[in-house]
Amino acid sequence: MAKKATKGRCLLCNAIYTGSGMAKHLQSCLPKHIKNQQKNNKSKFRPFFHIMVKGAHAPDYWLHLKIASNAKLRNLDRFLRDIWLECCGHLSAFTSRGHELGMGRRVGDTLSPGMELLHQYDFGDTTELLVKALGEYEGLIKGNKSIEILARNDPPEILCDECGKALAVEICTECQWEESGWLCQSCAEAHECDEEMRLPVVNSPRTGVCGYTG
Ligand SMILES: [Zn+2]
Ligand SMILES: [Zn+2]
Ligand SMILES: [Zn+2]
Ligand SMILES: [Zn+2]
Repeated sequence: MAKKATKGRCLLCNAIYTGSGMAKHLQSCLPKHIKNQQKNNKSKFRPFFHIMVKGAHAPDYWLHLKIASNAKLRNLDRFLRDIWLECCGHLSAFTSRGHELGMGRRVGDTLSPGMELLHQYDFGDTTELLVKALGEYEGLIKGNKSIEILARNDPPEILCDECGKALAVEICTECQWEESGWLCQSCAEAHECDEEMRLPVVNSPRTGVCGYTG
């Protein structure tokens, strides 16, 4: 797996940080950004949360999002499926300290700053995500959407398990059972396992799981 913490770009100001660095950065960048929006648009301001979502067991994958307080958990579930998770329509759930939360719940009635939820997708080969509320604001959210991306990790640099030199582009899901299977282009061509068992390396905590192809 990648050794250095993955970085990504703040879409508000283009600065580059790691996931936790970005959490700190956005605590000042976001209020500044909202101040600049204030001139004409205050009537269109909506309450929203700044949340960070990351792989519970794969923290190299992270997102910083704005989510409208009146959005439902279902909206966030759909968003996470689209950007990171959806392979074959598995079940998913949000829980808070072991209690399942209804998908119809509104974000504003569920979260408060500092609170953390667990999101699970697929109860067989589960991908677990942590959703943490970092702040509550009022401001514009782009278009009519209820969720806007503030920052996302760049793809982690994962080296080939066979040569240890080039970046992996494919995953052999047969070899994955033995904690290997990350393959660069040339090792993938020479690899002996069934080609049908290969998945592409994608920028998601679900890379290499089930039939996930991005
Ligand atoms: Zn910024
Ligand atoms: Zn699947
Ligand atoms: Zn290789
Ligand atoms: Zn293999």
